[in-house]
Amino acid sequence: MNQPQSWEARAETYSLYGFTDMPSVHQRGTVVVTHGEGPYIVDVHGRRYLDANSGLWNMVAGFDHKGLIEAAKAQYDRFPGYHAFFGRMSDQTVMLSEKLVEVSPFDNGRVFYTNSGSEANDTMVKMLWFLHAAEGKPQKRKILTRWNAYHGVTAVSASMTGKPYNSVFGLPLPGFIHLTCPHYWRYGEEGETEAQFVARLARELEDTITREGADTIAGFFAEPVMGAGGVIPPAKGYFQAILPILRKYDIPMISDEVICGFGRTGNTWGCLTYDFMPDAIISSKNLTAGFFPMGAVILGPDLAKRVEAAVEAIEEFPHGFTASGHPVGCAIALKAIDVVMNEGLAENVRRLAPRFEAGLKRIADRPNIGEYRGIGFMWALEAVKDKPTKTPFDANLSVSERIANTCTDLGLICRPLGQSIVLCPPFILTEAQMDEMFEKLEKALDKVFAEVA
Ligand SMILES: *Cc1c(COP(=O)(O)O)cnc(C)c1O
Repeated sequence: MNQPQSWEARAETYSLYGFTDMPSVHQRGTVVVTHGEGPYIVDVHGRRYLDANSGLWNMVAGFDHKGLIEAAKAQYDRFPGYHAFFGRMSDQTVMLSEKLVEVSPFDNGRVFYTNSGSEANDTMVKMLWFLHAAEGKPQKRKILTRWNAYHGVTAVSASMTGKPYNSVFGLPLPGFIHLTCPHYWRYGEEGETEAQFVARLARELEDTITREGADTIAGFFAEPVMGAGGVIPPAKGYFQAILPILRKYDIPMISDEVICGFGRTGNTWGCLTYDFMPDAIISSKNLTAGFFPMGAVILGPDLAKRVEAAVEAIEEFPHGFTASGHPVGCAIALKAIDVVMNEGLAENVRRLAPRFEAGLKRIADRPNIGEYRGIGFMWALEAVKDKPTKTPFDANLSVSERIANTCTDLGLICRPLGQSIVLCPPFILTEAQMDEMFEKLEKALDKVFAEVA
């Protein structure tokens, strides 16, 4: 179907695709995108798609936000690039660190920059290793995360990610321990209440700590709502049950807010939505509204003080990326924070979240939708073959991929994840655009369920 000189053919000839089902590409071709308008993207054929995934969760202000583009241009004019090594950094970097500590849930703190969320998680792990060794506990190195967690793709962050696909790389590395995913609907046992489920997970955490030895565990990482695991809000009371255990054994708790951060759950941070106080926050994706690759580790006051002391002891933190704290990225992030918090974007998420939920509740009446779940502007619908028993469809049917492909044909981008369909539109979405999203989604669901049911 590809013309020899088509964009699709050229893409397939020279680009190596990541996280892409290649048989689908061979069959359907690549969507080659030229630009965007608000929450829509436009391909080389002029077709428009409502991107209900905000790019990859990150383009929260849409694809052509004038203020963000102006902020980038202005900073490129002033100072188009610099680093943050050897006691030098740009003025924009100074201002962004102040801003991030100000908008963080912490009274005080320190910020370290990376180019991505994966690198930010990697950096946090190295900081913990560095810190514990400096405090006389060099064996305190194991990392606790959960199954279905997504923390990135570098060797360390992929080891933290709790997905079976990483076995093709021989990962996780030794010392990365995965606990039960706090998804009550899927992992709750027969007859187990949600409170009993949470108590079981808390026991599992404590048993793991005592089995491994608290002195061997460097930290616990968790997304407030699991994103790439299929939009999984924690079971009720989950963080309240596990935080005291982590405190008891002196294990730092890191909130990976790469998706939840800056408004996605309806509050600035997911830890505010779920009412817990982490020791550090990992931020990326929305940090620059997707306009620049950037990640940040935001240390709370206790970790900041301890890392500071560890650095003083050897006079240096021997870590950093060439483009850490890039002035253009920092200028864009400063603008993005302002846009999300002060131009009504976070407000729009809060205002439309109940409408979002009501729409999905109605759509989930279908016999082949097992569960709808989410919060704010991050939701998922999970397809099932049989609703009462929660039996999934045969994996060979690729039901969620078929739904997503049918949506694409109708001009809606949504993401298949396992047997779920994920919806996480830009924060600028209007009511009319939300209706368009539901309308196209329902058409696709009915078409695919008629084929497979
Ligand atoms: C996307 C994501 C990451 C990784 O970020 P990259 O910029 O893709 O490296 C880490 N944690 C969470 C929760 C994410 O959603």
